[in-house]
Order: sequence, then C-alpha cells, then structure tokens
Amino acid sequence: MSQEVHLRQQLARSKRVVVKVGSQALCLADGRLDGRTIAGLCQDLAQLLDEGRQVVLVSSGAVASGTGEVGRERGLGKQALAAIGQPLLMARYRMEMQGLGRHVAQVLLTHADLADRGRFLHARRVLAELLAAGILPIVNENDTVSVDELRFGDNDQLAAQVAHVVEADALLLLTEVDGLYTSHPDKDPQAKLISFVGLRDTRALDAAEDGTSAFGSGGMKSKLLAAKKAGSVGVVAAIGRGKRPGITLDLLRGEPLGTVVQPAAKRLSGKRSWVATSLRTRGTLHVDAGAAQALAQGGRSLLPAGVVRSEGRFAVGDAVAVVGPSGQLIARGLVRYDSEEASKIYGLRTDQIATVLGWLPADELIHRDDLVLADT
Ligand code: GLU
Repeated sequence: MSQEVHLRQQLARSKRVVVKVGSQALCLADGRLDGRTIAGLCQDLAQLLDEGRQVVLVSSGAVASGTGEVGRERGLGKQALAAIGQPLLMARYRMEMQGLGRHVAQVLLTHADLADRGRFLHARRVLAELLAAGILPIVNENDTVSVDELRFGDNDQLAAQVAHVVEADALLLLTEVDGLYTSHPDKDPQAKLISFVGLRDTRALDAAEDGTSAFGSGGMKSKLLAAKKAGSVGVVAAIGRGKRPGITLDLLRGEPLGTVVQPAAKRLSGKRSWVATSLRTRGTLHVDAGAAQALAQGGRSLLPAGVVRSEGRFAVGDAVAVVGPSGQLIARGLVRYDSEEASKIYGLRTDQIATVLGWLPADELIHRDDLVLADT
C-alpha cells in the first residue's frame, strides 16, 4: 500500500480532529461572514460529532468580520477589528450548531499561554473536558492582547499547536485552494495538485507559494509549515479547500482530495511534544563529548557530570537548549535546577551534589521524560 493511501486511511480512522478554517473560506470579499459556507461547515462538524469523533475548530475570521461590520473607512486597527468581529463569528457558529443540537465553546489563546506549562495544562484539561462532553470548542488567537513578537504568527501555527494541546490524531487546514500545487494555480495553468508530501520532501516547501490572501495571514508555505509542525508530534495533516461542500467529511472519509502531509513516525508524549513545539529556550547548557554522544542515542537523562558550562538565566522548569562541544544543538529540555544552583554542580557526580548544595534537588539536570532530541 502506498504511503499516501496509508495516511488517508489514518485520517479516516482519526478520532480527535482539529479543523482550521481561514478567513478567506469563511468570509465574503467585503469581510462579512459567508453564511452558506459556515452552515455547510457546521453540518459537517455536527456529523463528525454524531459519529463519535471529537472536534476542535480553529476559526479565523474575527478581523475580517469586524471589517465587514464597521467598514474599513473607520481606520480601526486589526486588534480592534478582531474585538468587534469575534463575537459576530461566535454568534454565527452558535446559531448554526444550536440548530444541529450541539453546543459551542469559545477558547481564545495567545502564544504566551501555551508557552507556560501551567496554562498549557489548564487549556488541555478544559479542552478535554469540552470534547468529552461532545461540545465543539472554537479556538482563535486572542488578537486583542497578542503583542507582535509573541504572536503565533497566524492561525495555521495556532492550529498546529492546538493539535498538540489536545493530542489530536488529525489536523485539517482548510484554505482557499484545493491543496498544495506545484506552482500558483491562478497564475500557472499547468499547476498540478501535490496530493502527498513525504516526511523529508523539501521540494514541497519550495513549491509552496508564500503569497498571503486578502484577509488571512497564512499563505501556502505557512500551511505546510504548520502541517509539518503538527507532524513532528505525530499528527497527520491534510490541506483542502474550505469552500468545497463536504470537504471536512470527505477528507475524513479518506477520499483522495487535497494534500496529505506525512507525520513523524514516532508520536511524542504530551510533555515532550510541548517542549518540542511550544517553548522558547531561556538558556543553553554546553555538554562534553561523552554526554553529547550518550544523549544522541536517545532515552537518556542529562546529568550534571556531563555539563561544562551554561549561558542564560533560567528557573526550575524552564526550557533550555543542550549543545555539544562544537556548538551543535543536540536537544531541548526542561531543567530541574535553576541557573544559579546548576552552575555550582557542573562536572559533579550525583553523590557529590548534596555535599556542595546541602541538598539534592534532583539526580538529573534534565530528566529523559523532559528531553527532546533536536532531530526528533
Ligand atoms: N486571528 C485572526 C482572525 O481571526 C486571523 C489570523 C489568521 O488567519 O492567520 O481574524
């Protein structure tokens, strides 16, 4: 069986699904919500729920529908427009889903929320609670409080992160074209749909146009990067055209539509996937050749004995990078010591630590459960 067929069967079997819809698919050219597309989408989502699947919708369209409501001429910024549009978007979803006997819930997130392990776990717990109750959580970026440098970037990245928050089986990225093409389909009549992107396929990234649409901030490259990010924690992703009736159901029936993106073979556990995808590092640990080699084999913790020095100020639980003697990135992980204590025990054996510090906070500097190798 080809890898593509195998992946499409995996989509068909998926139980927990994140569906991301872009502004272009949800809105008309003037920004007002496209009632027909939203009604069709909601019918499909309700059907998935009826089949016993769990669904999270990541919906753009706040800025666009805010624009549709008050017009461009008022000169309001995107964050203000999102504040106007978000309740309109939710009101529409609520109306449609209520008619189909389902409840919706609104979840607004910022990058900073998911980079904080405590808040991340709250988000995971609440989303799981909603999903278990058969409710449709609708996620968007909390645009009003998102500061530029801390933004997810776009809702494709947000959707990839949400897929790992809820430990989804599949991520559908619904956009304005049928999938990934060899070149821009509007500009090149010879453009061909790429139905399958393999794990190490770099040509696909080259083919992905980085053009952005009128309202969304995504573009094809961003879709592919989001698909790959979800793939790095084992989620199968598919890209399809949002306005095509029944697209969600068809992709989740395994129909040969759109583009499927192969995930990494290994599924990372929840915490390790968080370390791999949600965090910015606060410091760097430089390890010796022996430790570098041991870590690279996988399944090992990092002990203080293997560390030579560190940079940066970090607290217990922060993410740090681990680099080898020639400066190569080996892993990322969560430290069990703060930088001040850690700096006193580099090179020491575990039995020497308590003598120096007066207590033994942990055997490992980074436990193997909290460590993710760079090439995972
Ligand atoms: N959060 C934005 C909105 O709802 C959209 C961002 C995006 O589409 O990437 O309007």
